[in-house]
Amino acid sequence: MTSHYLNFVGGQWVPSHTKRTFPDINPANTDEVVGVFQASGPDDITAAFAAAACAQPAWAALPAPRRGEYLFKAAEILESQLTSAATDMTREEGKTLPEATGEVKRAINILRYFGGEGSRLFSYQIPSERENVFCFTLRKPLGVVGLITPWNFPSAIPAWKLAPALVAGNTVVLKPASLAPLSALRIVEALERAGIPAGVINYVTGSGGAVGDAMLENTSLKAISFTGSCEVGNRLYDKATRRRLRVQLEMGGKNPTVVLADANLDFAAATLVNAAFFSTGQKCTACSRAIVERAVYEPLVERLVARTRALKIGNGLEAGIDIGPAVDESQLNTDLEYIAIAQREGAKLLCGGRRLTGGAYDKGFFVEPTLLGGVTPDMRIAQEEVFGPVLALMVAEDFEDAMRQANGVRFGLSAAIISNDISRVHQFVNRIEAGLITVNLPTAGVEYQLPFGGTKESSFGMREQGPLALDFYTESRTVYLKHTV
Ligand code: NAP
Repeated sequence: MTSHYLNFVGGQWVPSHTKRTFPDINPANTDEVVGVFQASGPDDITAAFAAAACAQPAWAALPAPRRGEYLFKAAEILESQLTSAATDMTREEGKTLPEATGEVKRAINILRYFGGEGSRLFSYQIPSERENVFCFTLRKPLGVVGLITPWNFPSAIPAWKLAPALVAGNTVVLKPASLAPLSALRIVEALERAGIPAGVINYVTGSGGAVGDAMLENTSLKAISFTGSCEVGNRLYDKATRRRLRVQLEMGGKNPTVVLADANLDFAAATLVNAAFFSTGQKCTACSRAIVERAVYEPLVERLVARTRALKIGNGLEAGIDIGPAVDESQLNTDLEYIAIAQREGAKLLCGGRRLTGGAYDKGFFVEPTLLGGVTPDMRIAQEEVFGPVLALMVAEDFEDAMRQANGVRFGLSAAIISNDISRVHQFVNRIEAGLITVNLPTAGVEYQLPFGGTKESSFGMREQGPLALDFYTESRTVYLKHTV
């Protein structure tokens, strides 16, 4: 029987005021409805913000280490459900079970990391010029924060927004992506079971179009953290800044990997296949452009084609599958459209490029991992985010040409170089326009304890994750305290 899930508002699981629901469909088997969720509207958002505003003063007054304890407990609860939470994620998002298990583990690590921040929450103590004056800063929570998350990391992204927000003393209204709302619900359930006070965390599902304005217009809202497409993020930015709200946006990418002529080509091919195709290329940090020095272009292509053809595509719950489906039909069509556009503009299809059909494939949104050769910087496939398993291969005449091509896009999320030439690696690290830079590693696969975020049109605002994450969710107050005798 299909499970029905409710919103979590003011410590209660409640149906939407709209009395409407929507299905969460398995993209590997569209016959399977993973769950039915509330198709919320503005009234649900208003109720969630009212509950969050009511709970906020008491939550902020609780000593931060005690706030952290709720996160530790939630981490323990989520860990006890690791297999079922990962299975839920594979069923709703399509990524393979090992990928989903890794993501839930990451969410657990994030809860623990920020649980620990409860006993740190550092601020500054700075000497005064004056006698008997003691100066320091205080970190204060902002109040009620709104979190809007995408489907591609449906557990880790809610966790990396929720955990710093909560430990800093904010209360939260979370709106997860409609394509994968169950993974975030598992974290909310864990926090509830950990005993978090009513109203501190509120979870409202429903289409972004139906609830977005109500979130942005709510007078209790003090900050909005969004991860998703540039199109939606930029619209939210306009609305949020009109009200002088604090805003944090993590958006698209067109992430390059530069392969220099000295690279070990088997290693380079393995690294590129990992970065471009795992999680069906549906990672914001996935590599979508390989920029390769001419001397090694052809031998690298040969190795890439062989490795890509060997990948197993299928239902991520089955053992041995490397790549699951696209998340839905619309994303599948986007992948196929970009492959067609690239060929029309002169790129050469080297392998893949088709929707997989026949047998179990007919029930899902499976697309072959695709290599496109001879891509030039003016082509749309070199400039626009696809968000699927499509890798554009580009020739660079030399290092300078590679740098020019790598930086010649509007995005700046992640970037990699494969080379052991220390001088060029140093130059790359200093000159590449990206927030996340890797050397001899895939562009994707970042760790939870380090700051995360991009530059240029990929991101706006303060960094997420790691020690810098708390800056977004806190406001600094400066105190001058004179002791008199
Ligand atoms: P999306 O369509 O922008 O959706 C993201 C979230 O915004 C969803 O919860 C969505 O709700 C909501 N939303 C949609 N319209 C809204 C509106 N008018 N007001 C308020 N909220 C609204 O993005 P996506 O397709 O889920 O995710 C893919 C994109 O995310 C890619 O571009 C990828 O690069 C980016 N991404 C970036 C990062 C990063 O850290 N830089 C990480 C992961 C993903 P519904 O689901 O109900 O539409």
